[in-house]
Amino acid sequence: MRLVPAFVIIAAVATTNAATVLPTVADPPPPGEYPSHIQPHGDLPPAELLAPLQDKDAWVLKGICPVDEATIARKLRELPLNQRLLRVAVGEVDGVKAALLKFQAGHHLTGQFRLSEIEADAAAALDAAFSTDPAIAHVDVWSVVPSEANAGGQSHRPVFSVGTDRQTYRLVTDSGKADSDLVRTLGVVRYDPLILDLAPNDPSRDPALAPLPASAYTKPRVGYGSPWQETLDRNGSNVDSGLDEPTVQVMLHGDQRQRLVAITIDDGPCPMLTPLILAVLAKEQTVANFFVVGEKAEQYPQLLRNIAQAGHLIGNHTYHHRQLSELSDQEIAAELDACQTVVERLTGQVMNYLRPPGGNYTETALRCPLVRSHIITLWTHNASDWGNPPVSRIVQRCLTNIQPGAIILMHGGDINSVRALPLIIQGLRARGLEPALLSQMHGTGTPQTLTLKGALSVPLNGWQPDDVK
Ligand SMILES: [Zn+2]
Repeated sequence: MRLVPAFVIIAAVATTNAATVLPTVADPPPPGEYPSHIQPHGDLPPAELLAPLQDKDAWVLKGICPVDEATIARKLRELPLNQRLLRVAVGEVDGVKAALLKFQAGHHLTGQFRLSEIEADAAAALDAAFSTDPAIAHVDVWSVVPSEANAGGQSHRPVFSVGTDRQTYRLVTDSGKADSDLVRTLGVVRYDPLILDLAPNDPSRDPALAPLPASAYTKPRVGYGSPWQETLDRNGSNVDSGLDEPTVQVMLHGDQRQRLVAITIDDGPCPMLTPLILAVLAKEQTVANFFVVGEKAEQYPQLLRNIAQAGHLIGNHTYHHRQLSELSDQEIAAELDACQTVVERLTGQVMNYLRPPGGNYTETALRCPLVRSHIITLWTHNASDWGNPPVSRIVQRCLTNIQPGAIILMHGGDINSVRALPLIIQGLRARGLEPALLSQMHGTGTPQTLTLKGALSVPLNGWQPDDVK
């Protein structure tokens, strides 16, 4: 028997004539499709979804550009928002600003998931941000629920996201799109199937809604439930236990005869920060290498596509950002496979470079054919930028003893890393060096083809383990 969610009945009664037959409800996904606490109940969303989420410091404003943030929040508070506003952040680097606005998915009184409400709030957030300061060039909006690891706590899982630049937003708004259509017209909008199942995109239930556009990204999460099991199954046992000693390609540095340096930026894409990084790189007319986490790429598909469209290199940093040294061969292969699946869906690219999280790997990983089909990319300079250290310290770590062929490790998750980036690029150029793609830095002695034993004892060569995470 199918259970009809109560809110669907309410919606149907509210929006149709009394004689109208109640719409049917899609079958719930099979067990295991979602982490247990967010399995649709065939009723109202589970209580955990409605638990009030607070950010760590319980403040809505991030405090990076406090005046802009306060202005946006004030505008939004004057509106009858459907969802609770969790976060407003505006970042600035070299006069370019980007904003992010985060909501808790589900109506703030009832917890009901209505796509039209989520999209209306997103449209209001985009308007509030873009109208606050002409310097705001990009806005990301997303809605979250508590993650399965911390239901009701501070850990958030995006179930909807939209990111757009000012020019695209202007084009769409100038064409007179209504709020209900506006969001759907902006690039790649992520709709997690969690939302679709709790508030299916059925016009008979949500009459204001047109079908989702082809650009919407509505695939089930690759790294969870049934899709993840399929990925595990597909990869089977991956240890190459043949008698022949396998080899692996490792990039400790680039070609030292060219005056090129690879800036590698791990752990993205991240709302607000990735757009700012891309703005810096565009302004400096240069390139970088992004080792992306598949899970995040899936949550913010437009940001991944923006990285690809700007011509930067995209590398594999696993789907869940798990240490390879803690995984079975099957899990390692599934992590790489799942990240590749997301990147290929969104960009069409096959990734050739792998950055193991933390730089850690073991013989088990090296015996995995999928690992060995990548160039394992380490680094010579570690920005150690976890925890948002001062900009000057990040710049100093990146530029000290910098040499042709260097590979700089940075992370894309904090504002000071982004603020340091133009100074690092300018510092490189002052030394006659130029940022480059890893693929431009192959040459004599790099990448090195090593035996497993050799790869497990690579010379440090300036390489320092990633100290955090
Ligand atoms: Zn990482």
